[in-house]
Amino acid sequence: MSPPGLTVDPFRFAREAAQVGRSRPVAGFERLAGALFDSAGALEFSVRGRRDQDGKHWLELSVTGTLTVQCQRCLDALEWVLAVDSLLLLVPEDRELPEQELQEDDWDCLPVGPRLDLLELVEDEALLALPFAPRHDDCCAPSGPDGGRTTSPFAGLARLRKTEGRG
Ligand SMILES: [Zn+2]
Repeated sequence: MSPPGLTVDPFRFAREAAQVGRSRPVAGFERLAGALFDSAGALEFSVRGRRDQDGKHWLELSVTGTLTVQCQRCLDALEWVLAVDSLLLLVPEDRELPEQELQEDDWDCLPVGPRLDLLELVEDEALLALPFAPRHDDCCAPSGPDGGRTTSPFAGLARLRKTEGRG
């Protein structure tokens, strides 16, 4: 049984300047937990709605937490601090995004329907923020196919390429 979500009408949420703040175990975010080394810890998040003078609807999102990712060098656990602040402009999902808005650096467009699951939004933001190839700062495990034993099926291939590809 899945825990109750935080599903809102996003435009109304913004119009009413609503806000929610919660803490939720990482284990409760299935997709996120699946991308991590383990599901220890919790995410603290807050979502705040706002409508500006131009009638634009915004969500201000903040997500923090300490996650356990996998060091891509030694493949062991690595604590990684997540800290995301996002400014999201709500646009109806059936409307085409204006070109200029897509190029904006300070905020992102968020196409939304009549219902928006804030927990899903928080999870998406956390997933987007995950480091691509995290490593321990002082990781001393051997790297590369020549540095040590490896079970990667591509290790042999890499060596082969290196030998063949001279100059
Ligand atoms: Zn490491």
